[in-house]
Amino acid sequence: MKSLTEKYIDNAKRIIVKIGSGVLTEDNGLNKKVIKSISTQINKISSESCKEIILVSSGAQACGVKKVGLKKRPSQIPERQAVSAIGQAGLILEYEKAFAKYDKNVAQVLLTSDDLSSRKRYLNARNTLNTLLSWNIIPIINENDTVVTDEIKFGDNDNLSAMIALLLDADLLVNLTDIEGVYTKDPRVHSDAELISQVKTISKNIEKNAGETPGALGTGGMLSKIKAAKKVNSAGIPMIIAMGTKKDILLDIINGKEPGTFFIPKKDRLASRKCWIAFNLKPQGKVMLDSGAEKAIIKNGKSILAIGITEVEGEFGIGAAVEFIGSEKKILGVGLVNYSSKDIRNIKRLSSSQIKERLGYKPYDEVIHRDNMAVTV
Ligand code: GLU
Repeated sequence: MKSLTEKYIDNAKRIIVKIGSGVLTEDNGLNKKVIKSISTQINKISSESCKEIILVSSGAQACGVKKVGLKKRPSQIPERQAVSAIGQAGLILEYEKAFAKYDKNVAQVLLTSDDLSSRKRYLNARNTLNTLLSWNIIPIINENDTVVTDEIKFGDNDNLSAMIALLLDADLLVNLTDIEGVYTKDPRVHSDAELISQVKTISKNIEKNAGETPGALGTGGMLSKIKAAKKVNSAGIPMIIAMGTKKDILLDIINGKEPGTFFIPKKDRLASRKCWIAFNLKPQGKVMLDSGAEKAIIKNGKSILAIGITEVEGEFGIGAAVEFIGSEKKILGVGLVNYSSKDIRNIKRLSSSQIKERLGYKPYDEVIHRDNMAVTV
């Protein structure tokens, strides 16, 4: 009988593959052998099965650093952004050459998180990527490092790859890195550390052990991979972390040999628009719920009513994205409000009939309607 992970992999039609700088780098520059090997494996998978592969590739900075003859990534932002601009061209060139061997075209897609926070641009990015896939072209995505500022950054490619998995409603996210997966302890320090092959719940302990030690050329570290897994899992998408330099790693994963750590999603798939609400909008404030409201939305799929709201944080207008918070300050999800923060402060704890009395009007029964609400726990 097939294992749960095998079933997920078998059924995965659309797969996002993220390759980190640690895998793509050698001698402070690009490791072309790895690019060739990954391209060969992707070609094999996409030509022998009906699976679609989208690459999220780091390596622009590593490539740029080498090209301009630096020893490491510059610390100044303009220099770093310049290095990325130089390196991105070299990175795509290597992929173009590697895929040309199989008569396959690649497409370069550079994004910032700002591009995905506007609904229109989000849909445009999705339409473009879907068009590329329908033409049998391999999209190669990276953060648009040359223009990003802190406010509009994905931060690292672990997060970017998770956002792309959500954007494209992928069936699986594969995160190829320079370590075999998640360990019980830090394997660099403890020789008795054991690889965890399956994660059903991302516990506080797993997050703690993941640490936060980025490599010289990469950005993320294990913690950002765990955060990415949490994000996609909460939208019903599974993720694997595996050692990207292992021979035929992608083929092994696709053939169900299950190397690495597999994160099993707890939930059913979140609808695409709800993913956008949950992960692409910047929450403008918070509403705290009592236990009755928490239960009603999590267990019974209800909307959020004023009567269940105990507190409001932040200043926001109608239509803003707002986090709703349950017991122990746990973020339960994000939704679009029908009332401003000022009005919610005024009507919290009130029943539907009392709202009209208090405000003189009552355009909506719900403060956040179920249709505009993404529960992420
Ligand atoms: N966008 C960066 C690059 O291409 C990598 C960021 C990351 O690895 O998280 O160099």
